[in-house]
Amino acid sequence: MAHVSLKNVRKSFGATDVIKGVDIEVEDGEFVVFVGPSGCGKSTLLRMIAGLEDITSGTLEIDGKVVNEVPPKERGIAMVFQSYAIFPHMSVRENVAFGLTIDGTPRAEKQRKVQEAARILQMEHLLDRRPSQLSGGQRQRVAIGRAIVRDPKVFLFDEPLSNLDAALRMDMRMEIGKLHQSLDASMIYVTHDQVEAMTLADKIVVLKDGQVMQVGSPMELYHNPANLFVAGFLGAPS
Ligand code: ADP
Ligand code: MG
Repeated sequence: MAHVSLKNVRKSFGATDVIKGVDIEVEDGEFVVFVGPSGCGKSTLLRMIAGLEDITSGTLEIDGKVVNEVPPKERGIAMVFQSYAIFPHMSVRENVAFGLTIDGTPRAEKQRKVQEAARILQMEHLLDRRPSQLSGGQRQRVAIGRAIVRDPKVFLFDEPLSNLDAALRMDMRMEIGKLHQSLDASMIYVTHDQVEAMTLADKIVVLKDGQVMQVGSPMELYHNPANLFVAGFLGAPS
């Protein structure tokens, strides 16, 4: 696990300011959820933390070290996307192992890690299937497996469940909660599902228009929303 710290982080695309001076602390092992309306900058923040997007100004620190210029694969971070890019022509085993190909991991070690990820996600019996033989939830598990094999200190999830139906979303939500308990990792999780945010988060960061509106535990935000926007978002009486 790792401590992630954003200090006065800004992001502009051309003349458009998208992230407008954001301070966020993710403590060791913490489960932090980002919520906010579409277009408020949640994905951009994750992409900057992952190193997929440059930071215009401000600093990103992981375990106290500034990593603004550190390449993505040296950050100890793995990201799970909303549209899980799994390869139809590869087996589940190969798809999960793909998380390691860029690292040049030896073959035996690779197989051990794939097996371990499959055990954690309870999909050992699926390893030789093709994606076309999987349900939506099983496919999402493959995408998560691909992140697990990399042993990241920090997991980033960008609306990982939004393509699943309601029942499956509930199952997967519980699995992700269990995953957090069983792995030594900090997690940053983007959702616009209020129930996901309230049940998974140690800490919720409410974003609006590239700025942090409020940070607190689910109960703090629910009982003490800083403004009507936060109250409306979390459905609290105000
Ligand atoms: P969210 O994930 O909260 O829906 P995003 O981070 O995807 O929001 O986008 C935040 C804002 O930044 C949006 O207005 C979006 O149009 C803009 N944006 C995101 N990526 C780019 C890009 N590569 N070029 C220009 N504008 C972008
Ligand atoms: Mg997004």
